[in-house]
Amino acid sequence: MIKNTIKAKAKELAIPATGIARADSIEFIREIPEFFKAHKAKTAIISLQNYSSTYIPIEDGLYGIIAPFARRNYYKELRKKQEKLAKFLKAEYGASCYISSNGPIREKPLACKAGLGSYGMNHIIASPEYGSNVIIGEIITDIDIEPDEPSPEFDRRCLECGLCIKACPSKAIEYNSPIKRERCLQHLSQNTETPPEFWPIWGKRFYGCSSCQDACPKNKKAIARQEEPEEMQEAGKVYLPDIIFLENTELKELFKGRQMSAGWINPESLIKNALIILSQSPEGMEFLYRFKEKGRETLKGYAELLIEYNKQKH
Ligand code: SF4
Ligand code: SF4
Repeated sequence: MIKNTIKAKAKELAIPATGIARADSIEFIREIPEFFKAHKAKTAIISLQNYSSTYIPIEDGLYGIIAPFARRNYYKELRKKQEKLAKFLKAEYGASCYISSNGPIREKPLACKAGLGSYGMNHIIASPEYGSNVIIGEIITDIDIEPDEPSPEFDRRCLECGLCIKACPSKAIEYNSPIKRERCLQHLSQNTETPPEFWPIWGKRFYGCSSCQDACPKNKKAIARQEEPEEMQEAGKVYLPDIIFLENTELKELFKGRQMSAGWINPESLIKNALIILSQSPEGMEFLYRFKEKGRETLKGYAELLIEYNKQKH
């Protein structure tokens, strides 16, 4: 059976979980890539890649924390495996393939349809084996493959838990309603501006937020990726005074191999996050004063606002 052969190949390529769904409806596409003009999409081969969620205690001092999914470029890693799988599909079945992850395809509903997991109350897909500490990637192809049994849309394990709602510092999650993206610190950490109402709850988030995932009991029993704890410890934190005066190219170089070096992430958002964290202590404020004098022009005004806001406190 073609499905079993493909899944066996995916395992051989070290892809932790793979499922199959029909992809013949445009409801799962945000914007139509060229592939869909040239080929008829029939099947989505969805893959999950788990990442290590090694807990990093918040250290004293002028550090920022990088959320677990961004400590390495797991997207790139999964894509490389998907490219090999697509090559196999072409060689064996003459398939044309479109590979994507975190792109124009609505991959969460497809992962659900492919039987890989269900939505939690935090609006993240959790797999029964790997929990929600996973990224999703997909190959859309023009060959017919028998789909898997879909997972239930909502994860019933969430009922009567609600720990993610309690853990969310910005009240971005509400029971039974879509996530408030404009309040989500994960989303705001990728923007070049974070409104003042979020400064007091920002904590040490240098990039990303994982509070709702850290609180989730489904992740406690999930299969964690085996990675060197020391290496992950290092990859999960940044000494902020070292980075606030860097140029964009230097920041990209510094974070090479990690999610923050991805082309769509504006390095300026990282400096902005660093300034918010630094503004939380008198020691950090010293760097804000220096930034106001010698920092990048585009964020000097933002630094000034932070100084004014925190002046009374320190
Ligand atoms: S913390 Fe509880 S309610 Fe939230 S996603 Fe996890 S199990 Fe569901
Ligand atoms: S990522 Fe953070 S801010 Fe966003 S919903 Fe989860 S806990 Fe809330």
